[in-house]
Amino acid sequence: MAAATGMLGAAALSSEAQDASSSQPFIERANPGQPGKGKVFALISPHLDDGPIFAGGTVAKLLNEGYTGYLIRVTNDEKDSYDLSLGETVLVNEQDTARFVKVAGLKKCYDLSYRNHGLDDVSRMEIRVRMVFLFRLLKVDTVITYNPWGHDEENPDHYVTAQAVEAACWMSGDHLDFPEHFEAGLKPHSVSEKYYYARGQHLVNRVVDISATVQQKREYIAACRNMINNMVRSTNEALKHRGLKISAFMGDEDAANRAFIDARMIAAAKKVGEKYGLEYAEEFHYIGPDHFMDEYIRANAQPIS
Ligand SMILES: [Zn+2]
Repeated sequence: MAAATGMLGAAALSSEAQDASSSQPFIERANPGQPGKGKVFALISPHLDDGPIFAGGTVAKLLNEGYTGYLIRVTNDEKDSYDLSLGETVLVNEQDTARFVKVAGLKKCYDLSYRNHGLDDVSRMEIRVRMVFLFRLLKVDTVITYNPWGHDEENPDHYVTAQAVEAACWMSGDHLDFPEHFEAGLKPHSVSEKYYYARGQHLVNRVVDISATVQQKREYIAACRNMINNMVRSTNEALKHRGLKISAFMGDEDAANRAFIDARMIAAAKKVGEKYGLEYAEEFHYIGPDHFMDEYIRANAQPIS
């Protein structure tokens, strides 16, 4: 069994490498049907705003196409506010998380509540086991998170989360990993699709056309009200030092937040879209199911009875 798994693993690696090395990424377009019906994704966000900013349009697309979606927020976001205390910051970001879950129509958020900016001091095994438990419990088919191999990533919360998820995706399908879960009624269940995003350079082999869901992406980001307001006020502060101001970023908080979202995140999605002849897009390193033996099975498999 171990040898067979090893061979399949090697086959999966070689077919992924082949896909990844093709010159043009695959363009995933809006599907009018419900191909996601019966499927489950987990958006695994080290901080509340990561998922909405880098994959909000794709999250909306998958939900529109029938997926059931969960959010796993890994840290407590205690370091992300402009002028609140640590305790106030935790609370307001928790409230914004509930807002995002409601606006997006996600089924639930699981808060792992690790301390913000300190994930590299937490046992990777502990985070991995919690992920394996949730993947088995929720029967997660698809994950959306940071690319564990993305370049220029400076935030330990991002790369530690990504590494834990990557290992948990296949380990959750193994019957010898954490077998006590099975006595509690869970079953082995591996994740078959991964959409990895990154802040810096990475191997992009899938581009999701989000032209139809860019408004939903805007609403998801706007739900992260406190974090966006922190960005707006920090930007205003930096501009002030240069003797400058942008009127659209001042005054009413919601209007200023939305002006910033359009100027930063939506403009970025437009720029990505232009690269591929699309209106708006998001880029991913995608790893899909292993189809290496499909042809062999079609040619050789016979009914048991
Ligand atoms: Zn983050």
